[in-house]
Amino acid sequence: MHDHDNDHDHGSDLDEMTARVRALETILTRKGLVDPAAVDAIIDTYQNKVGPRNGAAVVARAWTDPAFADHLRRDATAAIAQMGFTGRQGEHMQALFNSADTHHMVVCTLCSCYPWTVLGVPPVWYKSPAYRSRAVREPRAVLADFGVTLPAGQAVKVWDSTAELRYLVIPQRPAGTEGWDADRLAALVTRDSMIGTGLALSAEPQP
Ligand code: FE
Repeated sequence: MHDHDNDHDHGSDLDEMTARVRALETILTRKGLVDPAAVDAIIDTYQNKVGPRNGAAVVARAWTDPAFADHLRRDATAAIAQMGFTGRQGEHMQALFNSADTHHMVVCTLCSCYPWTVLGVPPVWYKSPAYRSRAVREPRAVLADFGVTLPAGQAVKVWDSTAELRYLVIPQRPAGTEGWDADRLAALVTRDSMIGTGLALSAEPQP
């Protein structure tokens, strides 16, 4: 069974929380105690920078350290914790390694279970009913919406997250990155590539 416990943001809790946060922000802004632009900057940092950079470090290490990659395959929770990334919403992790044969994509069909410790807070689209229903029914069409076209021979496997198990996709290492160190490689690892709605960036500078 797909079991979603109450320790994370189910719809009703989120709505309640959103309303409370909005009320607080309004009061603080009116009193001149916070600058909305600063709040936006902090949210952007956690949504787009800090969170996914943890996951990118995990992926880059998996690409460069075969022993770590093996550990990640066998026990992703422990391998990721060893890098210092632990906490709520990351207690039980599984790494899904993309290959020429199989592309993995992650969804939570019931709500928004997501590996916070490695990816930060989920993007808005991840929580949308459209993504949650279409990812399972027509994954290739969803990928096309994200600008991703896979080779016909590459299967798409969709994984449904739960409160008990969160997934981290390990995208394929881009061609032309032989000899790159982990820091340089991590810059190619996007958040979407670790959800499976994107690929790692090309090693070539974008035109
Ligand atoms: Fe969920």
